[in-house]
Amino acid sequence: MSEAWSHIRVLGRVRPLLQHELATNEKAIVSALAQDSLSVFYNEQMQKYKFHRCFGESVDQDDLFEQSGVKEMIDMALTGFRASCFAYGQTGSGKTYTMFGDETKGTGKVGLIPRSLRYLFDVLPPDGSVSVRMSFIELYNEQVFDLLNSNRTNLKIRWTKDEGYFAENAFVVACDTVADAMEVLTEGRHNRQVGSHDLNRDSSRSHALLSVFVEQLDPTHECAVSTGRVTFVDLAGSERLRDTNSDGVTVTEAQSINKSLFALGAVISALSTAARKGRAPKNVPYRDSKLTKLLMDCLSGTAIGMLLACVSPAERFAEESTRTLEYALRAQNISSKPLQNVD
Ligand code: ADP
Repeated sequence: MSEAWSHIRVLGRVRPLLQHELATNEKAIVSALAQDSLSVFYNEQMQKYKFHRCFGESVDQDDLFEQSGVKEMIDMALTGFRASCFAYGQTGSGKTYTMFGDETKGTGKVGLIPRSLRYLFDVLPPDGSVSVRMSFIELYNEQVFDLLNSNRTNLKIRWTKDEGYFAENAFVVACDTVADAMEVLTEGRHNRQVGSHDLNRDSSRSHALLSVFVEQLDPTHECAVSTGRVTFVDLAGSERLRDTNSDGVTVTEAQSINKSLFALGAVISALSTAARKGRAPKNVPYRDSKLTKLLMDCLSGTAIGMLLACVSPAERFAEESTRTLEYALRAQNISSKPLQNVD
């Protein structure tokens, strides 16, 4: 494990202003100050947020992948460890771009997940001693759907001693090649789009969980002797959801998103505190939401987690960006510092 790893690693990423924001002379108020800090200049005040690593608007997808530590997570999964990587932030802050990429903008814009899959298949031993399987589920309104099954039935969450919490009957697809893995990714993303269209809601209101299981096989290649896992999570938009009137968000949708994001923050915060004190975590509230139940395996014990806080630099989103950064700080259990007051 590289020295930079603690149990939880919190990263910040600011996207650039978009074309339409530049066209309307939107002001950028969030920027990277240094490799480990971001600043927000708002209401005549400059606030500094310190994380394990920060990425400014000029950091491209390649550099993000190389410097985020995701490669180390894949390496660890190959040795039987479990890991999770979350993208958190308001809708439009760059979560999907960071995790999946934006293929409409060219091959260099590919995100962390497809890059990780490519990397995994590049470093897999060629002797067939490791197998890769993937599942892709969606959590919407406290319901769990299998994104690899076009038949959208609400799956039950079960618990067993060996497997922990899991979505019962979700497909776990064997991937022999990187092309197979990309196909799984494409199919799941397609089903997420279709599903949200059918239900007449925005996919930004669901959490998408893509798990990559890496199994070390015994010499006969019949049984797994250890299973590593990395789960990537594109979280629902964290923006303050008011009610059904303004933006078509139902009260249950809002409550469900708030509950799961709150529970996730509380779990990460409990783990960060324990790691800082060098103690085993106690009373971690994994069971407080379906999201944290499904992620328990990837956050407990020796597992490592990475929270990527995505923010827009635009002044009109200052409050949401601040809320995102405060959430990320709470996850690390560190408070923000006023950098300077500008009167
Ligand atoms: P979210 O998933 O948080 O709703 P998106 O990932 O869809 O947000 O990003 C919103 C828009 O911003 C998209 O058009 C996306 O291509 C663009 N974008 C986000 N992050 C970046 C970035 N780092 N560089 C360039 N464009 C970005």
